[in-house]
Amino acid sequence: MRPTSTSRCTCRRVRGSSSRSHPSRRRGSCDRATTAPSTSRGSTTDSWRRLVGLSRSPACAWRCEVAVTTVGAPVEVGRLRREYRLNVTQNPSPALGQPGAETGTVGSLRQRNRALGLRHILRAGRTTRADLARACGMSTASAANIVADLVAEGLVEEAGSVSSGGGRPIAVIAPRADGAFALGADVGERGVAVELFDLSLTMVDREFRGGRAEERPEAIEADLRDAIEALRVRNIARWPRVLGIGLGLPGVVETGDDGTQTLFAQSLGWEPRAVPSELGGDIPVFAENGAKTLAKAELWSGAAVGVDHALVALLGRGVGLGVVSDGQVLTGWSSSASEWGHTKIRFDGELCRCGDRGCVEAYVGADAILEAWRRAGGEFEGTGWHALGRLLDAAETDPAAAAVLDETLRALGAALGSMVNLAGPQRVVIGGWVGLRLMERHADRILDTIRANCLAHVGDRLELVAATFGGDTVALGSALMPIDALIASPLSA
Ligand SMILES: [Zn+2]
Repeated sequence: MRPTSTSRCTCRRVRGSSSRSHPSRRRGSCDRATTAPSTSRGSTTDSWRRLVGLSRSPACAWRCEVAVTTVGAPVEVGRLRREYRLNVTQNPSPALGQPGAETGTVGSLRQRNRALGLRHILRAGRTTRADLARACGMSTASAANIVADLVAEGLVEEAGSVSSGGGRPIAVIAPRADGAFALGADVGERGVAVELFDLSLTMVDREFRGGRAEERPEAIEADLRDAIEALRVRNIARWPRVLGIGLGLPGVVETGDDGTQTLFAQSLGWEPRAVPSELGGDIPVFAENGAKTLAKAELWSGAAVGVDHALVALLGRGVGLGVVSDGQVLTGWSSSASEWGHTKIRFDGELCRCGDRGCVEAYVGADAILEAWRRAGGEFEGTGWHALGRLLDAAETDPAAAAVLDETLRALGAALGSMVNLAGPQRVVIGGWVGLRLMERHADRILDTIRANCLAHVGDRLELVAATFGGDTVALGSALMPIDALIASPLSA
């Protein structure tokens, strides 16, 4: 049996004065009834595109590509989310420039080229058809076809031109900013920041819930729903084109065979907790460990661009790491790879929030650093940005504060040096609010301590840089999950 979905076009051309030639006007209505088989790949594509309102209604010839209302979407949402988790997270889209882009069946080739092309355009921001062909290893004819398809889908557009050195100007291809939107959330035990990004990855709205006190997961989920609803109300016209929400969570996020996800946040003292399958409306929900989303953001268009092997460290109250290997963020068998914060740097050492002793987080997490300073006689208020700034200021003149800072940098160097020996990165990126504060003044010392704790021939060639995106990186990286789903969404037949 074929389920029927009804899409209502709300294209302004239907209702405005310029709608004379719109085909639906001649018929008096732009409502459509289309059928979509539930068992074919095509049905997933159609449902996905109806869900996110990206492509025109199949029966409408006037590019009514926006504001599509879908009936019966929830069933498809669950299937899309499952397919995304199983297919995209475990078999990511091919990397740019990967050889063999012009091989395979016609269908797989077209699918592959679409994914390569869309990913390149979104990451580059501005490109040309010729550059697209070079970057993706496809023919210029294929690149032109892909651009035409993506323009028809409403995802990219021509945005001016560049000189060709005497010939005809060359069209610039860019993401169509309002072609789609994605939500990204940085979820912590003290609050949630939910940000709305357009397709050019510009943040267009933001909502924060929480405060100074630690909250239980139930309260955090309520905050998350409140924040999303506030954004929905303010962005009602954009909402039909929201692809989904990505959650950057404070723990290991494991994906089951059926696509359901579970958060294991041992260091926060939480019981294993199912990731909500919905957070209001029918917007797909995706989730990943926060440090891994940071690594994805830096790999997408930040400080890890241009290298295939990198370590991206997140230093805040919690401590995490994303290991980039061959251009992909490692997940391990159950998404628990690179839980660096809870690897040991000292046998029977300081007590960690996870309940064990001697973990990296017990030495370079914000609470650990400031507690060490308190024990050394430091006086300060709070546990955040300003308190750490006070420590760094005091370390300029106060021997006790300087000793705390020295110990912190030694621990950081030892912990990262071991990871450098394990992973063999070309570049180490340090982010998170603690990491960025340390990098502001002590980047040279951090690099020296890393090199002192890894093999010489590895450390000599190592680069160390601060993260590009500052405090909002986790939300940005989380928003890349629904965008990745869009990139990997199958072509319609
Ligand atoms: Zn620990």
